[in-house]
Amino acid sequence: MAYHVSADGLELFEAIEHYLDQDDFARVQDAHAFARHAHGDQRRKSGELFFTHPVTVAYELSRYQLDADSLIAALLHDVAEDTRVSIEEIRTNFGPRVAQIVEGMTKFQQREEDIAAGGELSRQQRTNATLAKLFRFMIRDVRVVMIKLYDRLHNMQTLDSMPPEKQKQIAQQTLDIYAPLANRLGMWALKTELENLSLSYVDPEAYRYITHALNSLFERQQPLLDKLRDALCRQLDDEGVRYMRIEPSPRSIYSIYRQSAAVGLKRAIDQTPRIVVVVPDRRTCYEALGAIHVMWHPVPGKFDDYIANPRDNMYRALHTTVITEEGLTVKVRFRSEAMYMMSELGILANFARHHRQLESWEFTNELTEQINALLDSIGQNIATDPQDPETSVRGVVEDVLGEQIIVFTPRGETRDLPKGATPIDFAFTIHSDVGLGAHRAEVNDEIVPLNTPLNDTDRVRLITRGKTPRRTWLDEDLGFLHTSRARSLTRRWFRRLPEAQAIAEGRALVRKELALIGQSHYDHADVADILGFSSAEALYLALGRAETLPTDLATKVLTHSWVVHETRHIGRVAVDENGEQFVILHAGERELRLCRTCQPQVGEPIVGFIRRDDGVTVHRDNCRLLPPEARERTMRLQWGLDGTQQVHTVPIEIDVYDRTQLLYEITDMLRREDINIADIHTSKIGRDIRIYLALDVTSPRQLVRILHRVTALVNVYAVRCLPQPKRFDDLYASFGTNGMYF
Ligand code: MN
Repeated sequence: MAYHVSADGLELFEAIEHYLDQDDFARVQDAHAFARHAHGDQRRKSGELFFTHPVTVAYELSRYQLDADSLIAALLHDVAEDTRVSIEEIRTNFGPRVAQIVEGMTKFQQREEDIAAGGELSRQQRTNATLAKLFRFMIRDVRVVMIKLYDRLHNMQTLDSMPPEKQKQIAQQTLDIYAPLANRLGMWALKTELENLSLSYVDPEAYRYITHALNSLFERQQPLLDKLRDALCRQLDDEGVRYMRIEPSPRSIYSIYRQSAAVGLKRAIDQTPRIVVVVPDRRTCYEALGAIHVMWHPVPGKFDDYIANPRDNMYRALHTTVITEEGLTVKVRFRSEAMYMMSELGILANFARHHRQLESWEFTNELTEQINALLDSIGQNIATDPQDPETSVRGVVEDVLGEQIIVFTPRGETRDLPKGATPIDFAFTIHSDVGLGAHRAEVNDEIVPLNTPLNDTDRVRLITRGKTPRRTWLDEDLGFLHTSRARSLTRRWFRRLPEAQAIAEGRALVRKELALIGQSHYDHADVADILGFSSAEALYLALGRAETLPTDLATKVLTHSWVVHETRHIGRVAVDENGEQFVILHAGERELRLCRTCQPQVGEPIVGFIRRDDGVTVHRDNCRLLPPEARERTMRLQWGLDGTQQVHTVPIEIDVYDRTQLLYEITDMLRREDINIADIHTSKIGRDIRIYLALDVTSPRQLVRILHRVTALVNVYAVRCLPQPKRFDDLYASFGTNGMYF
């Protein structure tokens, strides 16, 4: 890419002469003269004439043969922000379309009166307002973001003259917002460039390490790659498969960096040779794949068809891993010329002139659909609460631009959702009424709790019932809602309830919640007092409007009564060489010793090795004294909190319709919460089952979370804490006297 396009625009004019008609050419020339005059002698931080910046952005776009309006907007994009020229003036001179694009790219500017009134926004608030504005304008005309991305690219390429603090900040924002945007718009080459540039500022050391490692790997592998290419060419020729070219396909620096977070830098640099075969069309991809699989054996489970199932960034290719006759593992990708160009162009293809004439242009309709779906999702988030740019921007960045999964409606239509989304989030993408009425969900024909995270390719069906959202959905700890939009719409529903209804529902909630935690004897006025409300009515209203959540109420009431009960210790103390004491959980009554070699530190993952004398030595999970064969004699341990871990043993009753697996689901959930089950029984009541549990819980919050999570399980219809005995011994005594549980 040319970093220095001259301010006089010669390169630009030469590029557009070939494809713009005379009128358009003249309009671009006018815009160039206009913008150049407006920016005058402004300089960039590097000392260069400022105007070289908009000209370079326009020139980059001209390389893809973009339309005149895009080029004009690119030339004018900083005029409204940095000079005296107004959007009005741009509208008069260059028309409403250009004016709209430029306005979308211009920073949010606070009105003088608001600042004078003392309402000046913080930097973060202004950034959010600017992004919300960009997203809002992008929905009207996607060219806003296309130009913005090239603007950002040029700014990243010339970031060197900025102070280091600013560099890091801009690079991080590029990684968080602009690279994911480019990715979702299918502008894959641009995305990669933005990511690599950003990394060189965010983590320069890692950047240098990976670049160097990749270069030397490439050099070392050069003869091998040549040999492989020759073998592939011969085989394709022999089989009569047409191909355009065969070339190495190295991974991007940033993708290696991302992987290194999990496996370390060294291991992230994969030594496996990677080759791409470019063929004329889609059909030939499969033919070429077949020809190669005949020659070299494919590794089972390593074949991916991203042509039939493109990724969320519209990436298409066939991926396979093969083993050569010499036993060498090689990764081979197959792509058509159109797929190849698509990954470079993405959305630009819809605006670029000569690509539209490409005969093999197979994907344009699909691309348009994908982009429209993306713009819809962004639009939904922006429209949820126009007064709250922070929530809108967070919704777009986390839920739309982050990692996506695709789920299917019962009719086979697809929906993009962020990873971690639940059936209720899915329901809200269909219609806010479906979300508010979500009552039951079936995933792949099986009923699941509404707080189950969805997986890629799940088929989801919802059963709705009126508009009956739950306030517990808003408790993030319970995992019902993942997307900002679903949270915001649910919250709004409760906020808008008529006062009388909110109070009535609030009163019912207090009763229900107290019953759940086995504290029905509490007076509502006392509960209000504990939560800091002046009256029971005020508490009812806050609960009804979901300003206070039922789980908060339960937690605070339990905290209030928590101290009166006797507690039991589950931790055991280990002493290190210096006499310092550590609490270790889950070792039972065994005598504890700390490994002197690995010297485990609080917070690190630890395991216990059961010695011959039945004592336990505590090791770091990766201690070198623990060979794999010793693993069989280890137990999972945990660090205790300050002092010894204290637990309440709480008796709970759960009424369920009989269903296989339910008992397993309950105990599995408790295991994942790391909760000890002190006692468990079941008894039959008519056709239903009553499960009795005694749980060792460490805090009121934990107990409340468990009670609600159990309530959410399928076929559970009643959960309650039993009155707690005053002393632990009494609890056990009570088991014996109550024959029902034995
Ligand atoms: Mn700019």
